[in-house]
Parts: sequence; structure tokens; C-alpha cells
Amino acid sequence: MGMMEQNPVQIIAGHAPRKPGVYLMKDGTGAVIYVGKAKDLHVRLRTYASGKDTRPMIPFLLPKIRDVEVMVTETEKEALILENTLIKRYRPRYNVTLRDDKNYFSIRVDTRQEFPRLELVRRIRKDGARYFGPYASSQAVKETLKFLRQVFPLRTCKDLTFRMRRRPCIEYEIKRCLAPCVGRVSAEDYRRLIDDTMLFLEGRGKKLTTALRARMEEASRGLRFEEAGLVRDRIRAIEATLEKQRAVSASFRDQDVFGLCRAGRRVQACVVFVRAGRIVGQKQFPPLATRMELSGVLSSLLAQYYDGGVDIPKEIIIQEDIEDREVLADWLAGKKEKNVAVIVPRRGRRAEILHIAVANAQNACARGEDAGKSLETALTALARRLHLRKVPRRIECFDISNLGGRHAVGSMVTFIDGEPDKDGYRRYRITTGDTPDDYGMMHEVLVRRYGKRENLPDLIIVDGGRGQLNVALTVLGETGCTDVDAAALAKEARMARKNAGGSRAAIEDRVYLPHRKNPVFLSREREALHLLQRIRDEAHRFAVAYHHAVKEKEDLRSFLDGIPGVGEKRKKTLLSHFGTVDAIGKASPEELGAVPGIGARAAAAIHSFFHGGESRKPGGESQS
Ligand code: SF4
Repeated sequence: MGMMEQNPVQIIAGHAPRKPGVYLMKDGTGAVIYVGKAKDLHVRLRTYASGKDTRPMIPFLLPKIRDVEVMVTETEKEALILENTLIKRYRPRYNVTLRDDKNYFSIRVDTRQEFPRLELVRRIRKDGARYFGPYASSQAVKETLKFLRQVFPLRTCKDLTFRMRRRPCIEYEIKRCLAPCVGRVSAEDYRRLIDDTMLFLEGRGKKLTTALRARMEEASRGLRFEEAGLVRDRIRAIEATLEKQRAVSASFRDQDVFGLCRAGRRVQACVVFVRAGRIVGQKQFPPLATRMELSGVLSSLLAQYYDGGVDIPKEIIIQEDIEDREVLADWLAGKKEKNVAVIVPRRGRRAEILHIAVANAQNACARGEDAGKSLETALTALARRLHLRKVPRRIECFDISNLGGRHAVGSMVTFIDGEPDKDGYRRYRITTGDTPDDYGMMHEVLVRRYGKRENLPDLIIVDGGRGQLNVALTVLGETGCTDVDAAALAKEARMARKNAGGSRAAIEDRVYLPHRKNPVFLSREREALHLLQRIRDEAHRFAVAYHHAVKEKEDLRSFLDGIPGVGEKRKKTLLSHFGTVDAIGKASPEELGAVPGIGARAAAAIHSFFHGGESRKPGGESQS
């Protein structure tokens, strides 16, 4: 061992091909901790290995790498797509990962129908329909829909209802629909209404009001005063909305403008939506905890955001250049099937809008800093009121979920500086028997956690009262973790007086502490109490989610018990091959037989179990 040891990046860099591709960096446990893409894998990995990579996250990442896997792709674009997929799959610790945000709302209009309606949807699909959005929140999209329904009397009923109706519904009575269901409006007039609505949704309100004004005058000239009045009201409503939208460009461009701001380890990102030259909304992303430089964050953010089925505008404006700008633009153009420009403006109108987006991100950063300050206040208050030996920078909280003693599980959540640290979450399948003994279960979980004496917290919180606290203190003593403080948080009923005499029970949280007979109330330290409650609720949520997962798996396993010739081993094989009982039920005898260890006879038995005329559902019930 006289030779200097090479690190894994150096070893792999030596063999990496000079081709585009993706590399996966793994830690000692085999977990993927970073996924990156490169135009030339050899050059990229060499830069890591030579120490020339000066990105701020590198000193934290490099020492943890124990293995590197490379995947070669034909093009850089393919590398971008693969990188996105792998980031979503592994959610590596050192990558920026956008949470799967289900809050991208759009409005869908299926223009292929004769009488389309406006639909609120979460995802944009390539199905030939027109989509408008995304809207910053469900509230924003609902308000837009409400406005549109007041102004444009389109049908609101679903397709099936529309086909089945023999008489108009209340919408017609209140003049919110022209009743195409029974032919009270011609296809041509309805189409004009839909076109107007779409003009508005495209942000082309000015063009719409000009057209409406001409129509109003025409109706007046033709002495159709009622119609002229309706159009006039429509123009007024649209103009009132347009006044609220800020015009930022005279060019009617559609742009998404990304502003970013860093505060310590957090990056706050904001996107401002400009449609037809007007700001129509904005979205704040959840804060991203990362040491990555802003250009790297931007690049990951754009790739993940636009992969999520949102509308892609013609221009994307960013505040600093990114390495893969051209590849990204090319990938976006492929998705949109039209050219997309990714622009870093230096001056002019684009730079002005960018300034707005950055200012919004900075505001969010400042709010985040205020929240950080209040967390610090909460932690200090906790240390004082609970007589802790130090400010609890790392807190671990435990919860048991057993619902009648079956499938008992324990959970541990970790909060660092008052924020959840998901890397520190643990789940425990309890093994000390099925009797619902809360203390025994808590004891097992705590011994499993603190027996190793690794990465100890400043404070542990157990969900429960004096009994649970005593268990925690015993385990800390047994395992020699005597530097760790402990407390128990219990929801208990307190009898409170009612104004008009008598009494009622109020539920409140009490904190039990070692060597103190009476519990502590934190009602005057609201920030500290809220932090404790948040930690306890998170532990509970985590335990219940795990409990449900374990229970579901057990139910599925016991459902398979009824199949002749399928024992424990085959059950395991089937579930790990197909994933769900549903998938097993849908498999053909050939597919079942092809699974290693199943065989033709068992495959036939499994198939006839599912298709033998008896209808069964997981949970063990037969239906007649
Ligand atoms: S009036 Fe007819 S078309 Fe309009 S919402 Fe009612 S059912 Fe649908």
C-alpha cells in the first residue's frame, strides 16, 4: 500500500469515454448522492478529479463519493433527458430537486368539439386540445374561471351530461349558458364565444375589446339593443381586468421570467408569467436547500419545471447564463414543437421584467430570513423553558403507530435548526411481539436508534406523557447517551370554566421534563410551542404513512394466501416481480410462468385463482 490511493472519481475519469452522458455519484452505502450530465464525460470527470472544479458544493460532495457510474448517450439532449429522469428517481442529496408540485393548474379547451367547455386541469397533455396557463395557484385559476363564466356564457356541464340533457339546466335560467345542449345557440355563435374566450386567455384582451366594440356598434346600428348592451357589459368587465394587469412589453410576447436569490444555503426562485406583453401571474417555488451555484440551480430548475407538463412560452428569460443553454432551448423546442429562446438580457424591456422577478425572489428570501429568525427565537425559548443544557440544534422526535397492536411501526423525524431534515428520518418495523405495549415498543425503537451512539441529537422528544419520558431516560442511560436531553409532549384534556358557569374540557399540550413533577405549559411561548407541535405532528404523519404502507403490503400478502401451491417464497417473488396484486391478476399464464421460480403449474393455479369465476378483492372478501 505504498502507492498513493486514487479516489473513485480519478479511477473512473481515466476510463470514461469522450462522449456525452450522465454520471451517478454514490456514497459508501451505494446511495446516489449526485447526478450530473456532460458533453464529454471524460473531460467532466477529469475536472472533478483534478480539483479544478471550483463550484461551492464540490468540497462537500467529493469526500463522500465512493463510486461513480457513467451512462453514455448519443447526444447532449439525451443526456439532459436521462439526467432529469434519474434526478426524479433518486432525488440525490446534492442535486436541486423540485418537489413534485401538483399545483400547476391550467385551463383546457378542446377546440375539436363543436361546443367545448373550459376545464381546470393539472397537467398539459398532447391531446390536440388548447391549454392556457399555468396559473400560480388553484385560487388564481378558480378566480379566472369564475370571471370567464360571468362574462362568457359557455357550457359548464361535463360531456356526458351535455349529451344526455333534454332540457337546459339552471345555468341557462340564470343566463350563464346559452344551452347548446338543446340547440338554443348555433354552432357558429358558440364558436365565436369560444374564440373570444381564448383571445382573453391568450392575454390578447386589447384585440378582443376592439373586436367586441365593433360588434356592439353593429348591433346598435341593427337596432339589436339587448345584444349591444350584453356586449357592452362584456367589454367593461374585460377592461376592468386588463387594468389590473401590468403591461411590460409592447411586443405581445409570451415569456416566463425566472428570478433567483440566494440567502446562505437557501435559494429562492420566482417565475413571472408574461402573456401577450402583460404580467398575468407569478409563482414562488418552495425554497431550495443547496450549495450549488446559481447557474447550476437555474439549469436544474428549468429542466425539472418544464418537464412537469406546463406551458412552454416562446421566450424564457434568466438572470445569468447556464452551461447547457442551447441544449435546453433545443429540448424545449422539441417539446413545444416551435422555437424557444432562452435569453439572458442585459438591458431593455426584458431586463426590466427580469428585475421584477429577481425582486420578487428577494422579497421571498427576506421573508424566509424572518422565518429563520423566529425559528431561532423558538429554539432559544425552548432551551430556556425546558431547562436544556444547550440550544437544541438537532432534535429527534419519535412516534409509534400501532392501531390495535397490528403492524406496529415507529418513526423518527429529525429537525435541524428548527427545519425538517429528511435525510435524518428513520422508520422502524417493531419486532417485540404484537401486543399493544406502548412502552415496550418505544423502548425497542429508542434502543435501535441510540444503541449505535451515532450522530447524537441535542434533544429527543417522545410523543406521550411521563411513562414515555421515563422509557426515553432509561434508554439514554442504558446506552450511555447521557448528554442528550429528553422531553415528552402530551395532548391532555384540561377542565376549563365556561363563561356561563359549568366547565368544559379543553385539549392542550403539556411538556413533561426529567426531575420535574409537574408538566410545563408553553402557552406564553407560542413560537416554541408551535415548533414542538410541528415536530410532533411531522413524526406522527411519518409514522402513520409507514403504518399504512406496511398494512397494505400485509393485506396483499394475505390475499395471496389462498392460491394453492403458492407459499411464502413464491409470494415474495410474485410481489417483487409485479409490484401489486392487481398486476399479478392481469398477467397471462405465460407471463406468470416466465417469472423465475414460478413454473407452469403454479402459473396456471395463480391465473385460475384470479380468473376462475370468483371475484375477489384484496382484503379477503368474496363478492357474489
Ligand atoms: S344549459 Fe345545457 S349546455 Fe348549458 S350547462 Fe346546462 S346542461 Fe350544459
